[in-house]
Amino acid sequence: MKAIVFEKIQQLRIQDKPIPELVNGDVRIEIELCGICASDLAALRGDVSDYAPPVVMGHELAGIIVDSRHPDVKVGERVTVNPMLSCGVCTECQNDLDKYCKNIEGIGHDIDGGYAEYMRMPKHGVDTGKLIRVPDSVPPEELLFLEPLGCCLNAMRETPFKDSVAILGAGPIGLMLTQLAKRAGLATYVVEPHAYRRGVAETLGADHTFDTSAESVAHLQELTNGGVDTVISATTNNASAIALAFEIVRRGGCLNFFGLAPEGEELRINLEEFHYAGHKLMASWAFSRASLEESKQLLIEKALNFEPLLTDRFPITQGLAAFDNAAAHRGIKTAVHP
Ligand SMILES: [Zn+2]
Ligand SMILES: [Zn+2]
Repeated sequence: MKAIVFEKIQQLRIQDKPIPELVNGDVRIEIELCGICASDLAALRGDVSDYAPPVVMGHELAGIIVDSRHPDVKVGERVTVNPMLSCGVCTECQNDLDKYCKNIEGIGHDIDGGYAEYMRMPKHGVDTGKLIRVPDSVPPEELLFLEPLGCCLNAMRETPFKDSVAILGAGPIGLMLTQLAKRAGLATYVVEPHAYRRGVAETLGADHTFDTSAESVAHLQELTNGGVDTVISATTNNASAIALAFEIVRRGGCLNFFGLAPEGEELRINLEEFHYAGHKLMASWAFSRASLEESKQLLIEKALNFEPLLTDRFPITQGLAAFDNAAAHRGIKTAVHP
């Protein structure tokens, strides 16, 4: 089978690999579609270290069970995965904080994932509830968003909100957060340099969108009477994004640095100014089992509009072009398929 293998930093290659063998308790998923995540791009650049190459990347997958050696799983079931396989018994796992388990193994990070024709889900993953089944009414084009939407729901749950929120970045995450913020009844402002993405944010309910020019930032400050209650930065948190976030939050407001940062990026703050500004600083990452369950329910209820989000699809054999496309911020979400 063809697979996109992350061989080492700056090196991605299409490989011919054997179809993964199963042992007792494992299941095999035939992949239909797999979304490219910003973290995959960051790993390839060398900005994040939670990947263990060589590995088949891909954790935002949609597929069908085509072989099952597990008594609880049937051939033909439509599935995705909770890509964080963990021990299931430690204190973190018992508190739905699997991401902090010391024995974490990430699908598409440490073990082979969804940029391939087939993927093996190990028995251990099935036994700890990491195989997520959905009804056939959830098409692969929506199912691939289950995991990133789970990350957004986790952030929504963790972040303090009042009346207004500014979302930095109208990529897939920013556009899901936009929809969730509107569902939560918040005045929602989206800041995004690409006009096309701003247009999609407006279609999906953003109250106002802004580019990153000084005039736009001034307009946002004026419109919100000095700044929003909450900023969620769903973009690469480089120095300019960080500065922008502080410019548009009100005194006493909250900043959630959701997006990944370039390697070595630091947040430097003057503590005296910080003290009197009363800002609440936080970060949210990944998901919990509960947030993935909530995400699944929203997909089943068709509560969000994913149609404008999945814009670009490439066959696995053109995986390198797919990565270039995603890295160049063309469209919104790029996905690969066999
Ligand atoms: Zn992801
Ligand atoms: Zn654990």
